[in-house]
Amino acid sequence: MPKPLTRLLLAAAISTAFAAPGAGAASNAEITARHFASLVSGPAPKTAELALFFNNMPKGADLHHHYSGSIYAEQYLEWVDKLGYCVDKTTWSVQADKAADRKNCATVAQLEQDPVAYRELLHKWSTLDFYNHSENQLAPDLAFFTTFPRFNDVASTNGNDGQKRLKERAIAENVGYIETVFEIAPITFDAEFDGKLSDEAGFAAYLAKLEASPAFNKGVADYSAYVDSSSAGIDDDNFTMRYQPFVLRFLSPSIVFSQMAAGFKIASQNPKVVSVNIVGAEHYPVSMRDYKLHMRMYKFLSAKYPKVKLSLHAGELALGQVPPEGLKFHIAEAIDVAGAKRIGHGMDIAHESQPLAILKKMREKNIPVEVNLTSNEFILGVKGEAHPLNIYRKYGVPFVLSSDDTGVSRNTLSNEYVLFASRYKTSYAEVKKLSYDSIRYGFLAEADKQRLLKQLDARFTKFEADVATSSK
Ligand SMILES: [Zn+2]
Repeated sequence: MPKPLTRLLLAAAISTAFAAPGAGAASNAEITARHFASLVSGPAPKTAELALFFNNMPKGADLHHHYSGSIYAEQYLEWVDKLGYCVDKTTWSVQADKAADRKNCATVAQLEQDPVAYRELLHKWSTLDFYNHSENQLAPDLAFFTTFPRFNDVASTNGNDGQKRLKERAIAENVGYIETVFEIAPITFDAEFDGKLSDEAGFAAYLAKLEASPAFNKGVADYSAYVDSSSAGIDDDNFTMRYQPFVLRFLSPSIVFSQMAAGFKIASQNPKVVSVNIVGAEHYPVSMRDYKLHMRMYKFLSAKYPKVKLSLHAGELALGQVPPEGLKFHIAEAIDVAGAKRIGHGMDIAHESQPLAILKKMREKNIPVEVNLTSNEFILGVKGEAHPLNIYRKYGVPFVLSSDDTGVSRNTLSNEYVLFASRYKTSYAEVKKLSYDSIRYGFLAEADKQRLLKQLDARFTKFEADVATSSK
């Protein structure tokens, strides 16, 4: 039980946050707020009841979501089976080449008959059992990032089915909108561009070369067509999905630039494509070496395509992962140079050279951080009070809760809310605001945003009525 003074303060906070409909009667929102407070107060948060609460609470949107990392291994195996592929038991990668030597390649039927091999596959395609089990493991960040190429052959060929499954899961956990980092932006390699240090003139010359290239333009057209065909039947009254092509930050400069250029072009042409993100381990040597160059590339292309908004992974780094000098500028440059409107992760804020100036700017310009608690804990080993979330809250920087890669981390968006509520002092008013903010900070068209906000009002009315009924 909280102390009497705490109880009084809590009651006062609740009554100012929610106006009562009539004298004496508590509104459904007030009852829900009181119920929520009872789950997070006391010596330990009631995590099982919080799971029940958040599985049902409307969660607006998931704004930091990777398509291929969100699909569970079991789903990938269904496609491996359907396509007649197998899984190489040495590399644990999908073997799509039917003509190849398949001596060491297991079919799904064989895997299902072999619990040890099946579990080994889950270990190689997700983070399952990482901490309760001993084997010759890679470091957590490598274990995480090496999952993706293993299942990529079935991720990119089943886009419509995959999106349908993600939509079903979203609706089941009361999520109305997903902005997904979808497919890799088309790649062009140019040895000449890679051979020299690039400035604006170099960018302009390379962009002109790309735009004159039939292969580049075909890549742009094919990507856009795939978004259209794979999203058939996804958007409806209950659910909306938008897409971000991604650039891989550890590839060579000519490839990275070509991917960005293609991504901007696609986003400027296809209304379902709303941003151009940059992904891959930020602490890998090439990612670190080329970071400033990448931000200048974004700046150059943003000037050409000013309507395309940017959400960028920035500052997904922990102390010790790279020398301290490498922690000093990633968030600042994503905002000041590239012009990012949202920051993915923002984990190294405390180590930046001008953290207070960045925090002030993010607050004043309404630039939110996409917070991914499970992913940060696994990849960076940062959680609880070591996580910078409370810095952002203290300085009034907006943030949203998002899932990153629920398939790899065997997780759900609802559980991110459970982690937030059980690790940090919060209120129903705040978690409800987080749900609304995830729609407000989305990059979808204004009319769609208004529609989804209205829908969220109705979902909360129902949710609060259900909580009030069950609390009687
Ligand atoms: Zn991410």
